[in-house]
Amino acid sequence: MKIETIDLEFMDAGQVIASFLLLGEDGASAALVETGPTNCLDRLTAGLKDRGVSHEDVRQVFLTHIHLDHAGASGHLSEMLPNATFYVHEVGYPHLADPSKLVKSATRIYGERMDELWGEARPVPEDRIKVLNGGEETGTAGGVLVAHDTPGHAYHHLAYLEPGSGALFTGDVAGIRLPGQSYVRPPTPPPEIDVKAWLQSINYIRRIDPASLWPTHFGSYEDVKRHLGELEQRLEDWLLFVEGQMDDGADRGEIPDQLKAKGDAEMLAEGSDIIQSERYDLAGTYSMLTEGLMRCVTRQREKR
Ligand SMILES: [Zn+2]
Repeated sequence: MKIETIDLEFMDAGQVIASFLLLGEDGASAALVETGPTNCLDRLTAGLKDRGVSHEDVRQVFLTHIHLDHAGASGHLSEMLPNATFYVHEVGYPHLADPSKLVKSATRIYGERMDELWGEARPVPEDRIKVLNGGEETGTAGGVLVAHDTPGHAYHHLAYLEPGSGALFTGDVAGIRLPGQSYVRPPTPPPEIDVKAWLQSINYIRRIDPASLWPTHFGSYEDVKRHLGELEQRLEDWLLFVEGQMDDGADRGEIPDQLKAKGDAEMLAEGSDIIQSERYDLAGTYSMLTEGLMRCVTRQREKR
């Protein structure tokens, strides 16, 4: 099986959102991991065409989770790819079959920018969807993909392992990391982030022991241990930082700026420049990340 990365050029920015194309040796069977948002559909179809893949050739579409930057184009694609079955976590399934609730919830976060960012989300017909819980092996593109339940960023998050090469498609569970950078930013948007579950998923990925990580934001990386270590440390550290700010009575509106100052300093210390911070923002802004972390703190306290 061959893996190709299609750059969806989200908001005209290169290398921020990927769709991964799996190609069988026979050349006639193909699959996608992630669809990207509807607004990037032209880039996705151009990516298929450039590689000589017809719409009929795509047999499976594997989704890590149903957030609009990962699966938003699924409904449109179900109309365009006549032979494709859509694979999704059981908990994400209802939102793929009827995205109206998901769109409502995303509108609370993105407001007027919904259309500009994502475009329309259409339903995927129920008979085109296969539900996964993790552990399933699916034949695809002349090989197999194994689904792994990896909650934390969302309850309904799957990562997919291609055992032949050891490539693990990590969606958002291995964080955001852009090409040429070592810096890993944890995407922690509301409403579902659960840092405790996420840390367990990081340990679970260590046990899978993949040869490479393929985050949707963006590319592939082979320094798996270092990458996961950095993500784990930053997740724990940022949660404590936000909790500390809340305890100090910081103004709600100020905490994102504080986290950004901290995050940018960490980025600079790792040799990235500040232009990169803005590119990372396209996959998760500090106001969104802070909102999610604050909710996680509140939820943890309610449980105590
Ligand atoms: Zn994402």
